[in-house]
Amino acid sequence: MAKSKEELAAQRKAYREANREKILKQRREYRQANKEKIHKADKIYREANKEKIAEYNKAYRENNREKIAENSKTYREVNKEKIAEYIWQYRNANPIPEKGEAAKEASRKYASDWRKNNREKARENSRRGRARKKRLECGCVPLDIKQILIVEYGDSCLYCGGSFEHVDHFISLARGGKHCIGNLVPSCAHCNSSKSGRLIKYWKNWNGATPTLTCPNVTI
Ligand SMILES: [Zn+2]
Ligand SMILES: [Zn+2]
Repeated sequence: MAKSKEELAAQRKAYREANREKILKQRREYRQANKEKIHKADKIYREANKEKIAEYNKAYRENNREKIAENSKTYREVNKEKIAEYIWQYRNANPIPEKGEAAKEASRKYASDWRKNNREKARENSRRGRARKKRLECGCVPLDIKQILIVEYGDSCLYCGGSFEHVDHFISLARGGKHCIGNLVPSCAHCNSSKSGRLIKYWKNWNGATPTLTCPNVTI
């Protein structure tokens, strides 16, 4: 009798498990021999499926937050020397003058390049900086807070439904609101600046909407 689908699948799985090393080696060799071909096909696929890939990555990051954090911590620990070596090589290739105006200029350039390549993280860092100054940083806000707000509230302003342009402190830092998941909402630039440091109840455009996320650090 012909084997059922399940039996065939089980057979393939058993084979894969018994020959793990061999299969990995074959794959490595194949990739090594066909580097350019694979690279090209990859690029074409990525370009044709940009949105699909972005969506998949977003969902993956959301569903595996702890695993990702744990993995990158382990990676950093295991590869300490490799990372140090990489930094050393980078420094050698891009020497930073030790002092004086040239040093200041180089570190300014480095910081501005980083901000350009990491816009959302840079914004989040400066929000944190302002909150830290006022001792109002909760510590619960991840660098990709914008993605979390989009999942919770949608990709639009909580107050007017316009486009999500600013991460807004529902109770402003000036009024003692914390930099905390429970106090961050998406807003458009107009609502954000119109609300400014006001108490929300005194802001004439307030539609009554309030934050719905709760801080993981607060035990109820
Ligand atoms: Zn708005
Ligand atoms: Zn918090």
